[in-house]
Amino acid sequence: MRRGGGKGGYDMEKIKMITPLVEMDGDEMTRIIWKMVKDELLLPYIDLKTEYYDLGLEHRNETDDQVTIESAEATKKYGVAVKCATITPNAARMTEYNLKEMWKSPNGTIRAILDGTVFRKPIIVKGIEPYVRNWEKPITLARHAYGDVYKNTEIKVPGAGKAELVFTAEDGTEIRETIHEFTGPGILQGIHNTNKSIESFAKTCFHYALDTKQDLWFATKDTISKKYDHTFKDIFQEIYDAEYKEKFEAAGIEYFYTLIDDAVARVMRAKGGFIWACKNYDGDVMSDMVSSAFGDLAMMTSVLVSPDGAYEYEAAHGTVQRHYYQYLKGEKTTTNSVATIFAWTGALRKRGELDNISELVQFADKLEKAVIQTIEAGKMTKGLSLISSIQNVTVLDCEAFIKAIRETFEAS
Ligand code: NAP
Ligand code: MG
Repeated sequence: MRRGGGKGGYDMEKIKMITPLVEMDGDEMTRIIWKMVKDELLLPYIDLKTEYYDLGLEHRNETDDQVTIESAEATKKYGVAVKCATITPNAARMTEYNLKEMWKSPNGTIRAILDGTVFRKPIIVKGIEPYVRNWEKPITLARHAYGDVYKNTEIKVPGAGKAELVFTAEDGTEIRETIHEFTGPGILQGIHNTNKSIESFAKTCFHYALDTKQDLWFATKDTISKKYDHTFKDIFQEIYDAEYKEKFEAAGIEYFYTLIDDAVARVMRAKGGFIWACKNYDGDVMSDMVSSAFGDLAMMTSVLVSPDGAYEYEAAHGTVQRHYYQYLKGEKTTTNSVATIFAWTGALRKRGELDNISELVQFADKLEKAVIQTIEAGKMTKGLSLISSIQNVTVLDCEAFIKAIRETFEAS
């Protein structure tokens, strides 16, 4: 970084940006952290250019959730977004925020517009050892972000009767299968996916594997689900053979398919350093398992990659409501800001790469390094201290930890 007057951070010449980042602000404790991170770690060093969308629940309510749609459209236009965690309204939030409607999950809305795959990768720090001792390298989860149980239709079957699965084509022809002849009450669920979305999921995964030079694993339950899951398996294989096989071989990486239960068993014995592609629900569950095994929900990066090459960086955790209420009472909180900082550095690095601003890329690298060095020097928030093997840990509150990162950064 170039220096100006030479008396510390404020005198530095700030890094200039060309294209704005799409900035999606959010809710509760993560909204507080958002501002602290910007004020302490970004604005002193970067002439930050963003197009700001306030996805805080109040503003979503005021705009009838249009702001969420606009922010996703802006992401398509500019290519890189950074998102703060947001509240997904439920009954309690309806009263708490006096909502006009129970607005949908912003992540769901954004993912439906961008149609992407979410990649989640643990942030590795020496002294915060994974619970699975043989995991020497990070395992990146690639989660398909469309369809299946997340867009289901369900019926509570009241009593005896026949359940059927019916598809009516545009020309009126029908395909009809009996699901079950009920003799008493029960439950029913209909789910779907589209070839188009599965194809883009597959391509995004192959692309990401090549980009990061890691093996790609994909697993479903095609032995049981001979049409649904088998279609996922077939589409992946067809696209691999047609478009990626040679590129993978040239890069010295491997694609392999196996059953989901076999994958789970293998993952537990593996050393890490690969991408594990999962269907929507498997990815939801497995990414929480992998992230907690690597230590902490806030020690995980998360990026949504769309088939047309748009990127949305976020923290994988929620708005940390319990801490927010402590904060409102004027208490110090133990909130870990690492995932929020890495969402920003991920977005800034990508913007720097796309716009050829090497200072921005270097800034992102340096800030991430400062975060890791701060923790490795024994300064961390409470959650991390509980699982750390580092001697003489100093437990810092949320704000003090961010200030400690700034000191490390300035010193580098
Ligand atoms: P959460 O915000 O992830 O927090 C659950 C608990 O995990 C916290 O109470 C805290 O445990 C711990 N935790 C999570 N992030 C942490 C961090 N950065 N530092 C330290 N501890 C952390 O999940 P939630 O309480 O179930 O959900 C709250 C709201 O977030 C909900 O309205 C939900 O809709 C929303 N949400 C949003 C997203 C998103 O936008 N991506 C994702 C999930 C949930 P302790 O209390 O034990 O300290
Ligand atoms: Mg989950």
